[in-house]
Amino acid sequence: MFTKSYFSNLISNFKKQLNLSLFLKLAFAILAGASISYLKLEYLESYTYDLRLLIKSKTPFREKLSKHIKIIIIDTTTIEKLKAEPTFSDHARFLKMLKALNPQYVVYDFRSEAGNLIDFQGNEEEKLEFVNEAKKIPNFFIGTNELNLRGTENKLKLNAPLDTLELRSCPRTSDISLYAKDGVSRRLMVSYQGQAMLQPIIASYYNESIANQANIRGLFDVLDSKQAYIDFHPKGFFEIFKFEDVLDGTINPNVFENQIVLVGSDTGKSSKDYAMTPYSREVTGMTSTELQANIFQTLIDNNSPVKTPNGINILVTLLTSILTVYVVLALKPSRGLIIMAAMFSALVLISTSLLVFFNLWIDLAHPLLTIFLCYYFFIPYRLIIENRRSWEYIQKNKLLQQVEELKTNFISMMSHDLKTPIARIQGMTEVILKDQVPLSSTQREAVDTIKGSSDDLLKFINSILQYGRIESQGVELHKQSKDINVLLQDVIKKHEFLAKVKKIKIKTEFEPMFPVQVDVDLMKQVLSNLVENAIKYSSEESTVTVKSREEGSNVIIEVEDQGMGIPAEDLPNIFMKFYRSQNVKTSTIKGTGLGLYLAQYFTKLHNGEISVTSEPGKGSVFKVTLPA
Ligand code: ADP
Repeated sequence: MFTKSYFSNLISNFKKQLNLSLFLKLAFAILAGASISYLKLEYLESYTYDLRLLIKSKTPFREKLSKHIKIIIIDTTTIEKLKAEPTFSDHARFLKMLKALNPQYVVYDFRSEAGNLIDFQGNEEEKLEFVNEAKKIPNFFIGTNELNLRGTENKLKLNAPLDTLELRSCPRTSDISLYAKDGVSRRLMVSYQGQAMLQPIIASYYNESIANQANIRGLFDVLDSKQAYIDFHPKGFFEIFKFEDVLDGTINPNVFENQIVLVGSDTGKSSKDYAMTPYSREVTGMTSTELQANIFQTLIDNNSPVKTPNGINILVTLLTSILTVYVVLALKPSRGLIIMAAMFSALVLISTSLLVFFNLWIDLAHPLLTIFLCYYFFIPYRLIIENRRSWEYIQKNKLLQQVEELKTNFISMMSHDLKTPIARIQGMTEVILKDQVPLSSTQREAVDTIKGSSDDLLKFINSILQYGRIESQGVELHKQSKDINVLLQDVIKKHEFLAKVKKIKIKTEFEPMFPVQVDVDLMKQVLSNLVENAIKYSSEESTVTVKSREEGSNVIIEVEDQGMGIPAEDLPNIFMKFYRSQNVKTSTIKGTGLGLYLAQYFTKLHNGEISVTSEPGKGSVFKVTLPA
């Protein structure tokens, strides 16, 4: 049942499935990007936003000090000094001193528990004293988190006798049940059910353009309110003064002039005095009063961070998923990883720059998650493909090795078997040539040709045999001490006849040298090949020069000719097996293309090197370097 063809069908189907077309990959990427875009990632997104805000707070491009807002704080040193928490009468004295400093607005920001908005200690008389002093200040407000429902406007009142003071909605929000749900304060409220909050009203004194609330940057609807994001400033941006210093009159008379003065507490007694902010998620991350200062400042600067439209966010996520899928499926893993890291960094860098320079909040959580998810989703797919490919390579390689071995064996066998009949032909030719009976001139020519051809054939067969031996790693060196010049003499002598036929002069320039350790047969073959080629590829009546010398610890042999030279494009290949240059292939000069391959192989066996320089039409120089 499970025949071979069944399996190969199965494999080819599997391959087809894996070789997804470009279109399918794109569709996959878009689907992945779209599904990730759909996920609600507000917590993660707010986290990345907070990080960006933190980076923004460290950049040197921002102003260092608020021009319009000052904070006065009651803290533990105040209590130590007064030996108790400030009472109504302390506050009355404080307000008297403060009035003398001419602030533009004074906002009391005390958020006591249980709705009892101001819970200082003191009897009725002291309360009245406080009310009196407060009323002397032209713009004195008490802030509350309470909101008036439409139709119950102006119903917000403190208990008598404080009911004549201005109690105003001055809320702070935090992401408790909405958005990131991490309890961090990120938003400010501009209006609720159409009624303006205290902060935009006061801020419009300093920035008239926001008197029309529609001009406030980055407004969005939350339930029945209009809100915007707070443009946070780091600690130190708002100058903080001590309650007791105002009481003591040690404050410089000009500092509060034309300023919004926020009065609050930092005693660590109630968590309501503090807020978690993007800068810190500690419960006491920032005093509530500083948070208010940030809200005022954002409105005065009219510089709320604005979220980029959803369309842009989805587009960025889709592009990220397409690029990630492309990188995972098409690039080398190492390069892919670098590009992923670059993409990740670019996203972070661009989104941070947008916030720092343009107060734009672009979605970062979705693209970042896309990178991770797409990467880990598509990597296994990539691995399957890679595995399959390397498996195929291994199989192919094995097959090639077998074929190569078969080929070499076949060639060796053939050549071996050919050697005997050739030897016989050569022997018989000798017999005819030496016979007493004289031959006719045609017969003599024919026998000479037979002899020449069988010599060529034998040479060819010997080369092939040697090649076979090399391929099956069967060449061993039998080194002996030999003077290279003697070897060269022998080789030249062997080729004298060939040179004479072409009227080529062989010049020698030998320097005397010490004997070197070589395999005489193999080295003779190397040098023979070079001298023979020099004669073979030279025109008649030219000169071949053979030189030898010692250079450092090396012996150098050079064979120089004035022949046809080797075209530049063939130069890198002439040492390859069976390679013959183009100009030679079309000529009548015979050869196997094995000579230089063997020469290089044998030279390397001697730890030497062989190289060539050549100029077409002028000649070539082959250089052999052997370690002495
Ligand atoms: P072949 O049997 O063809 O001579 P070789 O391996 O000895 O094989 O040489 C390879 C090729 O290098 C030759 O075919 C020829 O194109 C080129 N070549 C070698 N020596 C010379 C030379 N002295 N001058 C010009 N071409 C040469």
